[in-house]
Amino acid sequence: MRLTAELRALRSKGLHRRLRTLSRNGFRIRAGGRTFIDFSSNDYLGLGRRSETARAAANAALRFGSGSGASRLLSGTLTVHSLLESKLAAFKGEEACLVFGSGYLANLGAVTALVGDGDAVVLDRLCHASLVDAARLSGAKLLVYPHRDMAALDKILHRVEATRRVAPTYRRILVATDAYFSMDGDVAPLEKLVSVCRRRGAWLLVDEAHSTGVFGETGAGLTEHCALQGKIEVVMGTLSKAIGSVGGYIAGKKPLIEFLVNRARPFIFTTALPPSAAAAAIRAIELIEKEPGLRRTLWKRSTRVRRALKKAGFRLAPSTGPIVPVMFPGKKALKASEKLRERGIYAPAIRPPTVKEGTERIRLSLSAGHSEADIEALIAAFNKL
Ligand SMILES: *Cc1c(COP(=O)(O)O)cnc(C)c1O
Repeated sequence: MRLTAELRALRSKGLHRRLRTLSRNGFRIRAGGRTFIDFSSNDYLGLGRRSETARAAANAALRFGSGSGASRLLSGTLTVHSLLESKLAAFKGEEACLVFGSGYLANLGAVTALVGDGDAVVLDRLCHASLVDAARLSGAKLLVYPHRDMAALDKILHRVEATRRVAPTYRRILVATDAYFSMDGDVAPLEKLVSVCRRRGAWLLVDEAHSTGVFGETGAGLTEHCALQGKIEVVMGTLSKAIGSVGGYIAGKKPLIEFLVNRARPFIFTTALPPSAAAAAIRAIELIEKEPGLRRTLWKRSTRVRRALKKAGFRLAPSTGPIVPVMFPGKKALKASEKLRERGIYAPAIRPPTVKEGTERIRLSLSAGHSEADIEALIAAFNKL
């Protein structure tokens, strides 16, 4: 059969993946009778493993039920959803907000609602797969600029503008980028992006999936860090990373949100987020606001780990914050990941197609939820590699 042949080909290329079933207790993972410290999670502040968020989820489930029962436009919008949306809008410093079932769906919904046939979407080459899929599904012309290359983006937008002048095409141009890149741990040049987009009449979508809770004075994200709140047309984020729950959102001006309620199919034709997830997210945002020390701990650790690994002679990609990519080209990444596992560290190898061939790496995800001893164990394990 063709599928088994394709699977065999994946295996022979070392690209075959399978699911691992784990059990978890805090940042400890149990698998195959052994225990590992988890350095693979996006739970940057440890809020997905706190009793406060779990209790909020449990209470909401007991009060409102385990499911929402309908899509948001039918009878699925409960007070907890509206509360979450106003909380998120205030937290992100934006006028309004709309919550989706996941971050993937939020990107799919926003992009396909805003652009279509006759428009253009321009993406950073290293954008998350959900933005790429959204752009493809939208039917708009898809253009790509090299990672963080503003001169190249400007050139593309200039060309699109010129086409626009001679033919009634590209009614709307949407530029989209991750704020904090999940596999590289570097950030988008937001100020420059905003000025290039303004000059060329393009809209900007910034995906704050990994930056929310991590960047900014109050943890609102990279838009806050760059003082750009209220100045970017579409701000996207997820509830599944530093917020430790599940769900996604789009924040921006009121007409944008009203438009998405009416036009975003991945919002309209799907069941509302369960009340438990919404309540846990509200509690997590409160904790982000109340405990700025979590963020300070996280950044201190990221400096400490980077310094120690560099000193030990490892090659790190130029990066910042809790995502630490340690480069191990080719099959070395898998081997390093196995060696680390033998020493009780769970840190996955990132391979093609997630990253380009030759840039295989171990991606470390640090968290304020780790203990100091966890961080020391990580450094010790690398020193023995
Ligand atoms: C994780 C992620 C998403 C998707 O969010 P989910 O809530 O997990 O669906 C979107 N964009 C980026 C950049 C991400 O890292």
